[in-house]
Amino acid sequence: MSNELYIRSDRIFTADPEKPVLFDGYIKIVDDKIDALLTVNEADIPDGVKVHDYTGHLVTPGFIDAHTHLVHAGSRHHELGAKLRGESYLDIHEMSGILYTVRKTRDASYEALYERSKATLQRMLACGVTTLEAKSGYGLDKETEIRCLEVARDLNGYQWIDIESTFMGAHAIPPEFEGRPDDYLDYLIKDVLPVIKRKRLARFVDVFCEDKFFTIEQSERFLKAAKEMGFLLKIHADEITSSGGAELAAKLGCVSAEHLMAVSDKGIKDMAKAGTVACVLPNTTYFLMEDTYAPVKKMLKEGVTLAISTDYNPGSSPTENIQFAMALAVFMMKMNPVDVLLAVTRGAAAAIDRHDIGQLKEGYLADIFVSYSRDPDQLFYRPGSNQTKRVFKKGKMVYRGTAVPHILH
Ligand SMILES: [Zn+2]
Repeated sequence: MSNELYIRSDRIFTADPEKPVLFDGYIKIVDDKIDALLTVNEADIPDGVKVHDYTGHLVTPGFIDAHTHLVHAGSRHHELGAKLRGESYLDIHEMSGILYTVRKTRDASYEALYERSKATLQRMLACGVTTLEAKSGYGLDKETEIRCLEVARDLNGYQWIDIESTFMGAHAIPPEFEGRPDDYLDYLIKDVLPVIKRKRLARFVDVFCEDKFFTIEQSERFLKAAKEMGFLLKIHADEITSSGGAELAAKLGCVSAEHLMAVSDKGIKDMAKAGTVACVLPNTTYFLMEDTYAPVKKMLKEGVTLAISTDYNPGSSPTENIQFAMALAVFMMKMNPVDVLLAVTRGAAAAIDRHDIGQLKEGYLADIFVSYSRDPDQLFYRPGSNQTKRVFKKGKMVYRGTAVPHILH
C-alpha cells in the first residue's frame, strides 16, 4: 500500500520555471516522491488521507548546500586575532590555515570524525538543508582522505540528509610534499584517485586553483586525469586572484566553479556558454572580513546558473547555516530574494548534477522546507533568526521548528 499525503499552502515556491512564482494549491506526495501539484479546484482528496495545512506559510524545495567541507577536526577560532589585525587569508595560511586542520584531522579517529560531522548535519537540517555536497581535503594523504570520505558515505541519509561526495585531495600541498606540488599531484593521480574510484567514494573531484596552492596548469593536468577516470569535475577558482580558473572550468566542462570573487568578464561568458554552474559562497568573504563579493548580478545577466552555498569549513566559513549565506546574498550582494531561493534549490541541484531535487515538481523527491515566513521577502526580513518551521525529506516530516513564531502581520 502506498503512502499518500498532501501539503497545502497558498504560497508554494516550486522553483519550476513553468509555474508561477508562488503557487496556490496542494503538493500530492506518494511515498518519497511528489506525485502532482494540484490547484485547489483540481485536488480531490480521499477521506482519511493526511493533509498538512501550511496556509499562510512559504513552502519551498528543501535547501541544497552544494559546497561544504563537512568532515574535519579541530577549531581555528584562534585565527580571529590575526584577522582583526588585518592579516589576509594567505598570510594566515602560512602560519596556521589549512595545514593546522590537516594535522588535527589526521590525528582524529573515524569515530571522532563521524560524531562531529553527525552533529553538524543535525544543525544543517534545522536550517532547512535536505541534501549537501561534502568535500574531503583535510587529510592530504591516502589514508585520511579515504577515512573522511568513508565518514561522509556512512552519514549519507543520516537524519535524512543526502550527501554527495567530492574528493578534494588537491586542497593544499601537504608538508611531506612541500615545494613539490607536481609530485603531490602525481601521487594523487597514481596512488589515491584509483582507490577512490574503485571504492566509489566520490562522484566529483575538486582542486584549489589559487596562488600558493595549485596553478592553472597543475589544476588542468589534475582535472583532466580525474575526468579520464570518469569523475565529474569542480574547481575552486578565482577566489582571491583572477587566474583564469573560470575559463578553465568552462574549457574542461566542469559541473561547477566555486567562489569566483575575482572572476573575469570572459570567465563569466565562458561559464554561461559551457553551462558551468557558478557556486558562490558569500559567508567566506564575510568571515574573512573582506569586501569583495562575487559579481552575481553580472553572472545572472550573462545567463550563468547560480548556486549559493555555505562553504562550511573550519578556516574561512565555520557556519553551517545556509540561511546566513542566503541573507548575505541579499544584504551584501543585493540579490533579490527569489533569485536567492532559486540558487539554494534549482541552481544548487545543478551544481551537484542532481535532476531529482531542487524543484517541487512531479517525479521529484518530496524534499520540502516550510517557513515561518509568508513570502520570499519576509524570509529575509529578520536575518539571524531561524525561519524553519518544518522540513520534509522524501515525504517524511523530519524536523519541527522550535522557535516562537513571529506575528506575521
Ligand atoms: Zn571550499
